[in-house]
Amino acid sequence: MENNMVDSRNEQWRVDLRKSHTPKERTAIERVVMPQLDPKYRITCNEEVNEGISEEQAVREATRCLDCANPQCVTGCPVGINIPKFIKNIERGHFADAAAAIKETSSLPAVCGRVCPQEKQCESKCIHVKMKHPAVAIGYLERFAADWQRNHCEQEVPKMAPRNGIKIAVVGSGPSGLSFAGDMAKKGYSVTVFEALHEIGGVLKYGIPEFRLPNAIVDYEIDGLRKMGVDFEKDIIIGKTLTYDDLHEMGFKGVFVGSGAGFPRFMDIPGENLKGVMSSNEYLTRINLMKAGRGGDTPVMQGNTIAVIGGGNTAMDSTRTALRMGAKRVLLVYRRSEAEMPARREEVGHAKEEGVEFYTLHNPIEYIGDDKGFVKAMRVQKMQLGEPDASGRRRPVPIEGAIEEIPVDIVIVAVGVSPNQLVPSSIKGLEVSNRHTIVVNDDTMQSNIADLFAGGDIVRGGATVILAMGDGRKAAQHMHEVLSQK
Ligand code: FAD
Ligand code: SF4
Repeated sequence: MENNMVDSRNEQWRVDLRKSHTPKERTAIERVVMPQLDPKYRITCNEEVNEGISEEQAVREATRCLDCANPQCVTGCPVGINIPKFIKNIERGHFADAAAAIKETSSLPAVCGRVCPQEKQCESKCIHVKMKHPAVAIGYLERFAADWQRNHCEQEVPKMAPRNGIKIAVVGSGPSGLSFAGDMAKKGYSVTVFEALHEIGGVLKYGIPEFRLPNAIVDYEIDGLRKMGVDFEKDIIIGKTLTYDDLHEMGFKGVFVGSGAGFPRFMDIPGENLKGVMSSNEYLTRINLMKAGRGGDTPVMQGNTIAVIGGGNTAMDSTRTALRMGAKRVLLVYRRSEAEMPARREEVGHAKEEGVEFYTLHNPIEYIGDDKGFVKAMRVQKMQLGEPDASGRRRPVPIEGAIEEIPVDIVIVAVGVSPNQLVPSSIKGLEVSNRHTIVVNDDTMQSNIADLFAGGDIVRGGATVILAMGDGRKAAQHMHEVLSQK
């Protein structure tokens, strides 16, 4: 990887490009602002909020990049995308080459350009930040290159190894399963993805709303995999409809489990069983997957005042979905301060612009029901920040006696998820941690069962799209090595 990076940096076009502007000229350019839909309009619909940057804006933004000799941005990317190479291709107007450079290491660039927490990853390491300037907008440029390619070029089938006739099964069609499937298909295997739901894409479809990640983007990537010969079998629950042993009997020689972490967590406080208190998984799945309130047959409870508990991406997506479903007042209740919120900065900003009320340093301690068993209010404890805890974030400490009662119609709990135990518990002898994650070798993603590999949230217990995707790629490489040795 490093050699490839050095070689490409020394190509004549890049040497010339570096000389075309002085570092001072490059750092004087202001960071691009992502055009976005007006908040008043966007909460009336499900259209994508970020509109994407133009070719001119992309070239200008790419010119800000100094093409560092030792690019730290790359070390901040969990899959090590050759960031300066793709950015410099944008600067010289070779947009298809930029997209190809990203595709060398990332199989879902249009997705990652939209949903990766860049401010904590690649952009946090950009040299501009050290110089107290805003980082190069790496995420916007990644999205630009991927969208440009999708809109201007025929979808190409990558170079494929000759078919080897070996059947491989994938459990789950989220980013880990999709990237694993793509890489194994490229290596010549016959890959079948088994998905429990009636849609392919995992959280990319049923969790992340279309105003952040349109389904068409995910479907384009899935079509690409179909063109590569990957088969998709929907409505099949591995561990119920088919077992791991059944997969063997069907001739599958390797299994990758990417079944995610779709099991919601609650806080175990009084009133959580009241009607109108539900998990964010349930709320978002009803709306995004089952089209509740958008012409689908599945119902979803509606209300004027909706409280969402949590501070992550799922919480943010739930608040913004609630606004789009017509709620008059949406409260985000989070026990720490905004600085500690794990959600992407951009989503926090968008939620505020759209009118979500932030109740930070508040923690629900009880939900109160009416005589029909529906939630009608919540009691929240005011908090203050104490010493840092094991996560390094300052611990929220209750302020004695500071308890408030807030009327609510619906409560959506988004305080974390755990892996669903169905797949791990259905495979005899599989090593599972006490957090119900599948235990794998971190370097190979191989479990204690030789032909079973796993990655994504079922291993990490809830992480990010790019990490799940990276796991899928790593597993493919090592499963191929194991099968090649046989
Ligand atoms: P998943 O995407 O969860 O996919 C697992 C798939 O396996 C599902 O389709 C499931 O139906 C299927 N499955 C489960 N059990 C079985 C079975 N027994 N048989 C067959 N199929 C099965 N990450 C980011 O990087 N940026 C974000 O902005 C972001 N926002 C998020 C917003 C929400 C609302 C949520 C819920 C998560 C978000 N994440 C985000 C996290 C990210 O989406 C996940 O880390 C990622 O999708 C995990 O990928 P995965 O492949 O492990 O599993
Ligand atoms: Fe460009 Fe920033 Fe990466 Fe340097 S650290 S190569 S300026 S994106």
